[in-house]
Amino acid sequence: MKFDNRVVLFNCRLFDSERGRLLHDRSVLVEGEEIKAVEKGAAAGRAGSFTPVDLGGLTLMPGLIDTHVHITVPFMHEVTPRAFFAMGRQIERNARACIEAGITTVRDAGGFPGRLSSLVSAIDSGDIPGPRIIRCNSCIAAPGGCPDWVPSFRHFVKAFLGGQYAERVGSPEEAARQTGEMIRQGAQWIKVYCQHRSWLLGGGDLPVLDPATFRAVMDTARRYGRKVCCHVSRMEDLEYAMSMGVDTYEHSPLEEIPDRTAVEFAARGKVLNPTLTCLDAGSDSLWQTIGSVLDERGPSILEPEPLRQVRRHIRTYRTGPYPPPESEYRKKPCFDLPLIARGFPHALANVGRILHAGGRVGVGTDSGGLPTALFGVFYAEELKRLQLAGLTPAQVLMLATSGNASILDVGDRIGTIRPGRIADMIAVEGNPLEDLGAISKVRMVMRAGRFLKGAPGADHFRIVSKWLRGRNSRQPGSSGTP
Ligand SMILES: [Zn+2]
Repeated sequence: MKFDNRVVLFNCRLFDSERGRLLHDRSVLVEGEEIKAVEKGAAAGRAGSFTPVDLGGLTLMPGLIDTHVHITVPFMHEVTPRAFFAMGRQIERNARACIEAGITTVRDAGGFPGRLSSLVSAIDSGDIPGPRIIRCNSCIAAPGGCPDWVPSFRHFVKAFLGGQYAERVGSPEEAARQTGEMIRQGAQWIKVYCQHRSWLLGGGDLPVLDPATFRAVMDTARRYGRKVCCHVSRMEDLEYAMSMGVDTYEHSPLEEIPDRTAVEFAARGKVLNPTLTCLDAGSDSLWQTIGSVLDERGPSILEPEPLRQVRRHIRTYRTGPYPPPESEYRKKPCFDLPLIARGFPHALANVGRILHAGGRVGVGTDSGGLPTALFGVFYAEELKRLQLAGLTPAQVLMLATSGNASILDVGDRIGTIRPGRIADMIAVEGNPLEDLGAISKVRMVMRAGRFLKGAPGADHFRIVSKWLRGRNSRQPGSSGTP
């Protein structure tokens, strides 16, 4: 999808996502979808043919990447008539929220295939702003197993939703057929669930895919050149998934990863996507953050029905009574928050253990996967928690950009600002290497050469007409409407 576009972004600091440092006074020339050149100074020699955009000292970085979202899950877990009508609009809002937060690529770790296809075409055709989506389509799971909080939907509901969130497979033949079907419908990765013990109150032990069935998923994925990501929760899950050769492990285990396992994990090139924020169930400050985000801008990020359901979810866990009586949680799934909270310190420490062993860690949020996992909000929270795990801001931002791109096998196209790469870039206020909070102040978002937020002429941008004629580049020109 080539288009005619020549801009030079100048007057900015540039985050070098391969070496984790800031380069001062750089210009980035963009032609069509690609980065054409990165130059020192204001690239004045190019003024004639490139439209200059003054970034006013902002920090320019590669677009952020999220390795784990559920973009078609509409923040509604009660199936009501209103939920049906709100679903499509909420999915669009999820896509917009990614762009608002500077997230230009996501891997969707499980969702409704039909909805994913419609969303991808709406984004590609420019109807709505949204991230590049690398998709798994429906998750593959054992009948009666995790995700035990998600039902299998029946015909009419399934057709309306655009397929199942999770396809349940009970034999190698079914596993091969469903995996092939997800790939036929556009899956670039395959997502599997492997959790032996439930996260729900009263959930107990859960069935997982038996070895032959799990192997059938792996073999089918490999036959079509697809990698496999797997939801895990404890060491027995991680070890089983490792024995099957899974590529990326979703959610840091709630138990300590022993040194020998960490070493083997690293030696085999495996990736941990810890999704720390969604495991930080015991954090009062996280609940408070979510509450205040909803108070301040709830109606702008959630449709009325999802907003009502999210508030109700928060009441269930915060104002209780929690835990509810057994008769209640037998009827309606309720997460065992103390169980997850007890494991969180291990989940956090495991990040350091894997990195120390030389392993790879990704930045994923599980946005959409929990009723409180708000797009954008959870990304900023995840970066904070990775810092808590012992990483510097520069290391965290390298993982979030070039690191994630390499995990998703798109490191030759995105994740760095270099000539020949796709022009996915964001500009943030402040210095994110001093304060990761700068990531929440996204002022410009460009995806594949197109401005999706902070277009030139809006607030922070000044197309400098005088500069075009080679005069003082810092002088503001006429400011048009966005
Ligand atoms: Zn998830």
